[in-house]
Amino acid sequence: MKLDEIKEFLSGYDGPEINIMEVCGSHTGAIAKNGIPGMLSDKIHLLSGPGCPVCVTPSSYVDRLIELSLTPGTVVATFGDLIRVPGSERSLSEAKGEGARVIMLYSPLDILALAEKEPQTTFVFAAVGFETTTPVYALLMDQLVSRGVNNVKLLTAIKTMPEVIDYLMANGAEISGFLAPGHVSVVTGADAFKPLADKYQMPFAVAGFKGTELLVALAGLVKQIGCPKVMNFYPQVVTASGNQKALALIDRYFEPVDAVWRGLGTVAGSGRVLRAEFSRFDAGSAALSEDVKVNKACCCDRVLMGRMKPTECPLFGKVCTPIKPQGACMVSTEGSCHSWFVNHRT
Ligand code: SF4
Repeated sequence: MKLDEIKEFLSGYDGPEINIMEVCGSHTGAIAKNGIPGMLSDKIHLLSGPGCPVCVTPSSYVDRLIELSLTPGTVVATFGDLIRVPGSERSLSEAKGEGARVIMLYSPLDILALAEKEPQTTFVFAAVGFETTTPVYALLMDQLVSRGVNNVKLLTAIKTMPEVIDYLMANGAEISGFLAPGHVSVVTGADAFKPLADKYQMPFAVAGFKGTELLVALAGLVKQIGCPKVMNFYPQVVTASGNQKALALIDRYFEPVDAVWRGLGTVAGSGRVLRAEFSRFDAGSAALSEDVKVNKACCCDRVLMGRMKPTECPLFGKVCTPIKPQGACMVSTEGSCHSWFVNHRT
């Protein structure tokens, strides 16, 4: 089908109402930026799932980072987005005003030079992310072990996608098909979604991030509703079996664990923690299970389950904005509420 035909197909669709969920924060942003919702028939609904890593990190994790950053002789290093995520009482950024030692790094590997320069200081990296980011944490571990650097630790909140999709479906999410995450699929391979397609008799489409790539993938999904099929519309970077080298490196250092997702609760097997033999590099990740809502009216849980649009939250755009976020979904540029707010989605 040519692009004009795809657009016509998607805008003219007149079959049963369908919900399609994207589970990748970058897709959420790309869908909004490309004006995709306005190109679809009223019968095709796009839902934003739990694909923003900082949005699903529980408050106890942020609390532990704050505790570490206020510990003498310790520095916490993190990616930028995490610094503003609310813990149970405050964010890392607020703790910084009270003397917390927090630095922002573009790559976890940058911590090596800092640690070697200051051997008396303990550096803790906030290892948050999905399958996309996990290989770089494994690479960092490889460097720490081979160089004998012992003053770097990881506080892990690493999550995996197939398990949370399984959780959403098993808990009654009304979804007809999934836009599978493009970057995650580079690592896992498109076949990682096959068991879910079979279990729930629904299509998955691995998609790129350009407007045309998203439209092609959406058209593929709409045509295959009800069919247990995984379609790879991003073959230039995604293979069926993924990046075996990266997967082996992850497996060397990390093992599966049940993980707490902010707003969702515990999802079996959906996290990765350091293997017991490397526990000396762990900064206390296993004990982090509590998730406290800062604002009880925040509906992030329902947004992440695809049960509510961000705009249906009573706080959206009033009490809760990117300047003063009340929930994690409004903090990160990849968060559903943030994306809907800045792109004026309704
Ligand atoms: Fe939570 Fe704010 Fe989103 Fe409402 S708009 S669900 S308060 S993050």
